[in-house]
Amino acid sequence: MTRLRESDHVVIVGAGLAGWRFVEAVRRDGYEGALTLIGDEPYAPYDRPPLSKQVLAGKWGVDKTTLATPELVEKNRVTMRLGVAASSLDVATTTVHLSDGATIAGTHVVIATGTRARKLPFSASDLVHTVRHRDDVERLRLSMSTLAPASTVAVIGGGFIGAESATSLHANGFVPLVLEAAERPLISILGPDVSAWLEDLASNAGIELRNGQMIADVEHDGNEFIVRFDDGGELRAPMVVVGAGAVVNDEWLATSGLTIDNGVVVDANLLATDRVGALGDVARFMWQSPAGAELVRIEHWQVANDHAAHLAQFWATGDAPTSMLVPYFWSDQYSKKIQMLGHAKPTDEVHLVSGSVKEGKWTALYSRNGVVTGVVALSHPRALMLSKVLLDRTTLLDEALLRAPWAS
Ligand SMILES: Cc1cc2nc3c(=O)[nH]c(=O)nc-3n(C[C@H](O)[C@H](O)[C@H](O)COP(=O)(O)OP(=O)(O)OC[C@H]3O[C@@H](n4cnc5c(N)ncnc54)[C@H](O)[C@@H]3O)c2cc1C
Repeated sequence: MTRLRESDHVVIVGAGLAGWRFVEAVRRDGYEGALTLIGDEPYAPYDRPPLSKQVLAGKWGVDKTTLATPELVEKNRVTMRLGVAASSLDVATTTVHLSDGATIAGTHVVIATGTRARKLPFSASDLVHTVRHRDDVERLRLSMSTLAPASTVAVIGGGFIGAESATSLHANGFVPLVLEAAERPLISILGPDVSAWLEDLASNAGIELRNGQMIADVEHDGNEFIVRFDDGGELRAPMVVVGAGAVVNDEWLATSGLTIDNGVVVDANLLATDRVGALGDVARFMWQSPAGAELVRIEHWQVANDHAAHLAQFWATGDAPTSMLVPYFWSDQYSKKIQMLGHAKPTDEVHLVSGSVKEGKWTALYSRNGVVTGVVALSHPRALMLSKVLLDRTTLLDEALLRAPWAS
């Protein structure tokens, strides 16, 4: 690996969180050469977590989510190519082809094209709302302004985006009805125990949640939506919001010759080749987890930041960061904060170590084969952060229970 030089040109594809953080980090690490940031949205990089929270709740305007202000763009000396998509990548010449016919030849390419909201195959799929982009939320806010107070809104999917959207809709005086296909929301991510402990959050917040609700179709009759259930029932609502997970934006790399398998497969330094890296939601990276090395793709805000810092440092200085990446995720839903460190599997064992489910404040550890794989907390931020030491290096469960850092 040769270090970046002033004569180099790094082309970053995807003007989201990871792409922008890479720009900032590589400048901080001393790179003086050219930087070009390509984004298919017409906006300067912005932050997505507030979209389903503060922006949807009407507390913030979308402008407040902007990460790359004009001053920061100037300070970081980056050429912005916004409103145009990358359509292919020639890996051998590190050349990016754009949908408007232009080509940009760099010496290095960073792939940071993220994910998009999954579309479900409903008859009215073009009319339902999703929450991924700034435009989505502006459209949703506009539709909300046409609804009568206390209108029912069908929220399809009780995962993170569905729950946060329902919370924000409720804060606006609407009546969200959360329709979850699984036995319980988040069961496939947090496992059966933790998802059970979280099950009452919706009802405690005055929001109806229906589990195991399979949806056959969503139609629109020109006036309202008709949500048709598998069991023959139906729900009529003036608005439908879908939070059904995400799909990786990697199709534009189909002819690149890179290994694409549920994301761009990269090594522990986020490299697909010496001069092509991938970051954030789109990267399927080799992660040195407490339980051993695994190939993972993780859609967390913190991971996109850490990836950007890692690749920038590696290319700019030649040295890879030595600390272990500890994934971190939070979600604000139903007036509570769920936080998680690590990347536990839903099949991992769970141990409640602090607080109680009854009081709505607790911390739990995940473990696999006697090794701590994650920490999850409900409205217990201090205990969670104190427990990070358990994931900074491999920690045995017995040792963790003895040390009990959450109680410090
Ligand atoms: C509503 C919402 C709430 C969230 N809340 C939380 C939270 O509370 N906690 C948490 O940890 N995480 C949260 N996340 C996840 C977090 O925001 C993502 O992990 C993070 O944005 C990933 O950054 P990224 O740069 O990889 O992708 P993105 O931020 O998606 O950026 C990728 C960019 O690339 C663009 N692009 C795609 N294809 C092309 C192409 N061919 N050419 C050019 N540009 C392209 C996309 O349009 C996008 O602008 C949330 C996400 C959403 C959508």
